[in-house]
Amino acid sequence: MIYKAKYISIFLFALLANLHAGGQELAMIGPDEELILTGEDEDLVDAERGASDTAMEELDFHLFNLIPCADLYDDVWDSMNVDVPEFSRNDVAECIVLPLTDHDCGYVHPIHGRITSDFGWRRYRWHKGIDIDLTTGDSVFAAFDGVVRISKYNYGGFGNYVVIRHYNGVETLYGHLSKRLVEPNTVVRAGDLIGLGGNTGRSTGSHLHFEVRFRGQAIDPNRVVNFEEGVLVSDTLDIDLEDFAYLFDRGWTYTPVKTETTSDGKIYHTMRSGDTLWALSRRYNTTVAQICRLNGISTRTTLRVGRVLRVR
Ligand SMILES: [Zn+2]
Repeated sequence: MIYKAKYISIFLFALLANLHAGGQELAMIGPDEELILTGEDEDLVDAERGASDTAMEELDFHLFNLIPCADLYDDVWDSMNVDVPEFSRNDVAECIVLPLTDHDCGYVHPIHGRITSDFGWRRYRWHKGIDIDLTTGDSVFAAFDGVVRISKYNYGGFGNYVVIRHYNGVETLYGHLSKRLVEPNTVVRAGDLIGLGGNTGRSTGSHLHFEVRFRGQAIDPNRVVNFEEGVLVSDTLDIDLEDFAYLFDRGWTYTPVKTETTSDGKIYHTMRSGDTLWALSRRYNTTVAQICRLNGISTRTTLRVGRVLRVR
């Protein structure tokens, strides 16, 4: 394997600057040039140009062995997709106990505010987080110590959002930010300023969409946090199959969205169970007719799971 000294030095610089500045002064890695896509879900509409740069940063991260809970996450460290790694019922067949506050800093509430929407079924889909009312520009803080895995913009869903992998085993997601103040691979402490609240993406009114995830899948944040008080429910979190009951209607294996972008900007999607041309057209901000044309198919073509379609 070849490691480029340039990337390593950028990374080290970012890491050292971060430790020095307490995680609040990390804009030296420039914003990614992103391909903006639209999707029907609030999650997972992720494809990006400049993927090779991202891959190199990830490589460095592996090199320095800094990935939190790498074993719990099959060594996957992905700065583009929220719902990784692959998830199946076997992963939680036995209860998993996570000591939430083993790390020094404990928990800091991301932002205090009125709950405007809870985890659960909402309109025609599952709302995978909890919405906390705020005023655009309000500070949003990291909940626990950890490392930023994703910091990007998603037009159709989260808007500006940040995902942090924590040393205690969970990940937290912060959506609809007006400004992101951290980049992937930033080391953060609980309470570090990570962004400013806002109303970006699929959002009506300024609020923080806050999620707690395990192995890429959301669990009810009320299991972890008492949102009235802004404190942890308990120092430990027991995770089992029940926490993922809302996924059961998709079958016991949840297949993450698989999107690949070629260097010339073409985007390919691997068909999953339940995918439709209509859903794809919305996810990738195109039309059914255009997808049919790109692939030489019609709306009556049977599309097997696993078939790769060009969507843009
Ligand atoms: Zn929300």
